[in-house]
Amino acid sequence: MKFVGAHVSAAGGVENAPINAHEIGAKAFALFTKNQRQWISAPLTDQSIKRFKENCLKHGYKPEHILPHDSYLINLGHPEEDALKKSRDAFIDELRRCEQLGLDRLNFHPGSSLGKVSDEQCLKTIAESVNIALRQTRGVIAVIENTSGQGSNLGYMFEHLAAIIDGVEDKSRVGVCIDTCHAFTAGYDIKTANGYQKTWEDFDRIVGFKYLKGMHLNDSKKELGSRVDRHDSIGEGFIGIEAFERIMNDNRFDGIPLILETTDPVIWAKEIKMLYAMQK
Ligand SMILES: [Zn+2]
Ligand SMILES: [Zn+2]
Repeated sequence: MKFVGAHVSAAGGVENAPINAHEIGAKAFALFTKNQRQWISAPLTDQSIKRFKENCLKHGYKPEHILPHDSYLINLGHPEEDALKKSRDAFIDELRRCEQLGLDRLNFHPGSSLGKVSDEQCLKTIAESVNIALRQTRGVIAVIENTSGQGSNLGYMFEHLAAIIDGVEDKSRVGVCIDTCHAFTAGYDIKTANGYQKTWEDFDRIVGFKYLKGMHLNDSKKELGSRVDRHDSIGEGFIGIEAFERIMNDNRFDGIPLILETTDPVIWAKEIKMLYAMQK
């Protein structure tokens, strides 16, 4: 069974996210549990936590179908000590917020070398950051998202994801989220039938489907291998409709949150309907 949803707004409190998800007919959703562009946010209130759980229960959202996303500011591979510490502390706070909300996974962008250290060193730092954070928290899986490889961002090759997993001590608490736009612009040709087959064979061999804890379904405004991250509405971009049809009919993507981060929230309800209608 497929669980398609979108990254919905949590404006006014996290408790509003499941309501917003329900309103667009989503079976899964993503959210920020704090302001994604600020380092510090007020702690979640007991009232907000209680209402979030009530609203999830009311609308049938289970933790495994909810994919919170961490702040854009965090760089777990930061080459400088003070900045790295700041990112690690913020990441621990994000994991704790998920714990409080009863959630079981947190999606994060791996990090960036800022061109100051080797990719290999940066990947090691990221894995160590995850280890430190997991030791100080309980029950939440750190879900690494693949990237387009813009600038010095790592995570654009499946090998990067595998290297981070390799460095994480508790393998039961690490996973990955594959963003279709990021994969495509990083050079994985999911558009064609052959490319689709090869991409997922490579993924299974290098990372392994058992680590797949979520997907971001986005079309791309930029071309294959462009290394530029610009999402587009489903079927409107360079990836095109067929890849999404294949995903919706591929049981390797059952049971996990499939999250739209497409550009026009006004048509999310329509996009979700369209994706479900693709199932044969
Ligand atoms: Zn994404
Ligand atoms: Zn993106």
